[in-house]
Amino acid sequence: MPHHELVIIGTGSGNSLLTEHFDDVDVAIIEAGRFGGTCLNVGCIPTKMFVLPADRVEQAHDAARIGVTIERARADWAAIRDRIFARIDPIADGGEEYRVSQPNVTVYKAEARFTGDRRLSLSSGEEVTADHVVVAAGSRAVLLEDVPGLDRLDPAGGVHTSDTVMRMDTLPRRMVIIGGGFVACEFAHIFAAFGVDVVQLQRSDRVLKQEEVEVSATYATAVADRYDLRLRTVATAARYDGEQWVITTRGPEGETEIETDMVLLAVGRTPNTDRLDAAAAGLQTEWDGRLVVDEQLRTTAPQVWALGDICSEHQLKHVANHEARIVAHNAAVALGRLDAEPRTLDDRVVPHGVFSYPQIAAFGPTREELQVRGVEFVSYTQRFSDVAYGWALEDQYGLLTVHATPEGRILAAHCIGPDSSTLIQPLIQAATFGQHAHEVARGQYWIHPALAEVVENALLGLPLAN
Ligand SMILES: Cc1cc2nc3c(=O)[nH]c(=O)nc-3n(C[C@H](O)[C@H](O)[C@H](O)COP(=O)(O)OP(=O)(O)OC[C@H]3O[C@@H](n4cnc5c(N)ncnc54)[C@H](O)[C@@H]3O)c2cc1C
Repeated sequence: MPHHELVIIGTGSGNSLLTEHFDDVDVAIIEAGRFGGTCLNVGCIPTKMFVLPADRVEQAHDAARIGVTIERARADWAAIRDRIFARIDPIADGGEEYRVSQPNVTVYKAEARFTGDRRLSLSSGEEVTADHVVVAAGSRAVLLEDVPGLDRLDPAGGVHTSDTVMRMDTLPRRMVIIGGGFVACEFAHIFAAFGVDVVQLQRSDRVLKQEEVEVSATYATAVADRYDLRLRTVATAARYDGEQWVITTRGPEGETEIETDMVLLAVGRTPNTDRLDAAAAGLQTEWDGRLVVDEQLRTTAPQVWALGDICSEHQLKHVANHEARIVAHNAAVALGRLDAEPRTLDDRVVPHGVFSYPQIAAFGPTREELQVRGVEFVSYTQRFSDVAYGWALEDQYGLLTVHATPEGRILAAHCIGPDSSTLIQPLIQAATFGQHAHEVARGQYWIHPALAEVVENALLGLPLAN
């Protein structure tokens, strides 16, 4: 039975662990799917590469409002898809080839399951043991287990998840997207812009419900003339009538049927712990299946670390990358290759973006969350339409809300509008490094008349105590 000093399960963020400290470590990497994991192959990167052409189409449609006529803007699905994967697939393949070529690395292309302490059984029939294990096995899209027909992935039959929808041969004429999170909203933007007749079903009374209430309400208003967003609506049944899918829904209008060519399930993601038999190795899990880890990202089993979606409450790539840096350091220390103290997670703010149209970006608690926690805070909302660049954009929906302590410590920012994910970075920096809101606003120049004046004005508008 092969024994390794270090076994890494999963090649998403797990593949970035191998710093120079591991050059003489006997490492095994186990990967059940494509090298590079979710972000590279079926997540952040391809979706944003589809979002950009979708943005261009929508901007062309919007251009009439600023006196520019761009006629017949349309996207070429096959050309876009092939361009995207012609760039991504070689990176995945190259990553795998590089690891296979490394003399100290063994690559197992198989699914791993724990059978004991740092002991794994592989779907290829092999068994491996290790001194140290890093579990970086990520999460997967969940299906609608209680709706027959939508309880299994069937791309050929027209039932997709984010794993398959970006490689479709042709665009369907009609699509039902089930879910109201960021994955559902980004795909609704992409496919609506590409000319698909999209219906999005969201169980709750608002879409993107982790966002500030005003942001998700603004989003719903902004997309209303682009596609059919149905709130408080669930799919209760699905049948294929030989030519099309018929989805039965229950919502404010009672029971209705939607005829569609394709269904995209985007109802959330679950950590892959169940497929790992985590309990067999003594790895405890949270109520939602995430591995329990401490601030050094140690699991409940000795010499086993975890990182990324398998253990993180934030299913975000920048969080997984940060955790990978911590685990790389701590594993190198544990393996005796680095003489240093272990590193721990800190309490830095965790930002996220939604690359919808309009774009959304935020960090920190919402107004409601602050109120529930009894935190004393002040707020200011700056509309894009009230700064000079917003006039140039003829912006209709953009807004940035900042919450801060009355003394000026920035607690949160919630933004919807063009380039939100870039725009709020100075606020992420200020909140992370504890800078005073008015010092950030007044202690530097803000390029006039750039869109960043939205940030400057939001900070200046905060009714601080001094
Ligand atoms: C459509 C979509 C869009 C997204 N967009 C963004 C975005 O814009 N920004 C952002 O920050 N995040 C985004 N995310 C989330 C982001 O992709 C994830 O948070 C991140 O990729 C998680 O990385 P990871 O290393 O934890 O897991 P992964 O990258 O998923 O890697 C886990 C790997 O482990 C393998 N594996 C699983 N189980 C086993 C097993 N038993 N044996 C062997 N191998 C196994 C899997 O095949 C996979 O390759 C998006 C996700 C999706 C689905």
